[in-house]
Amino acid sequence: MLTLYLHIPFCKARCSYCDFYLVTGRGHISDFFRALSLETASRLTDLKGETVGAIHFGGGTPSMVPVSYLAAWLEEVAALCSFSPEIEITLEANPEDLDKKKMEELRAAGITRLSIGVQSFTAEKLQALGRAHTALQSRQVTAAALRLFESVSVDLICGVPGENTVMWKSDLHEALALRPHHVSVYMLSVEPKTILHHRVAKGSVTVPDDAVQAACYEHAQSELQLQGYSHYEVSNFCLPGHHSRYNLASWKREPYLGFGPSAHSFSVSQEREIRTANVSSLTRYLAAPADAVVFREELSAEERFTEQVFLSLRINSGLDVDFLRKGNKLEHTLSQTIARFSEKGWIEQQEGSLYLTQKGFLFVDLIAGEFLFG
Ligand code: SF4
Repeated sequence: MLTLYLHIPFCKARCSYCDFYLVTGRGHISDFFRALSLETASRLTDLKGETVGAIHFGGGTPSMVPVSYLAAWLEEVAALCSFSPEIEITLEANPEDLDKKKMEELRAAGITRLSIGVQSFTAEKLQALGRAHTALQSRQVTAAALRLFESVSVDLICGVPGENTVMWKSDLHEALALRPHHVSVYMLSVEPKTILHHRVAKGSVTVPDDAVQAACYEHAQSELQLQGYSHYEVSNFCLPGHHSRYNLASWKREPYLGFGPSAHSFSVSQEREIRTANVSSLTRYLAAPADAVVFREELSAEERFTEQVFLSLRINSGLDVDFLRKGNKLEHTLSQTIARFSEKGWIEQQEGSLYLTQKGFLFVDLIAGEFLFG
């Protein structure tokens, strides 16, 4: 089963914390979809004979493009491969782009799942993040989406400048009152070259310290689980059966095909695993969409092992200790490392496999890094 990702690289303005590849404005939307048709046709050999189980429209802001473009692309793809009868088609959406009519059009075009970039229900937080919507829009749109779509996800961010745990608890409470099928909880990270990074460096804003972020995240873990959401990846929680199929497939290292500027693909054939990346430039993409791939690498055994360790910890599917020992240069110190993390209460061992504890989720990268690199 294959999954597909389409990167739609348009936003109205750049949010303060965002470092994704995108351009601002609507100027090239029709050019982009013309180029996308050419890229899609050029991928015929990758698509032919395949069954697609999930499609993810990401970006950028897919909800700002006319639905007719999305529907036309889905038809083009459907003509080149098969769609699973249970296909999940997700669209990332910003609340200010959605009203009842647009959501009905999206539903009619085949979108089954909306992932709504709510981020917060607090005006100060939305302003600090540079978001264009209000809390009221988020409430109304999420409630309406829950009546129309099979699955609805809400994104929330904690650790925003000026935030404290009281504000975070209120955000989470508001989100849970809507009862979305899926909640993603992201801890704000100050990425280089973002507007937020510039403000922090200048000293005009400060982000809450790690202890506040950790308290927010731990509150989310316990509250969401209390309300019946399963914690199936570091940042992701869902009601039964509502995990993101596209994301889960990529975390399980299943093949996916990416379209559009900056999209990545992963293919597996005859024991070989290949990663490719499309050019991160709309101008270059428009000039030669059939030659969008600018990076290609075959993963070495060591890289495959490293990915497997990181990803099986992230989705907490159980990291087999024998597997970890076998491929590991640090095999001689591994027992001590495992014992150290167990004492800290970050991991637990069950039937020969390691699992993160709730506390351990906060340190997943550190744990994986120490297992692999010391
Ligand atoms: S809407 Fe999303 S992709 Fe666009 S700038 Fe904001 S965070 Fe980035």
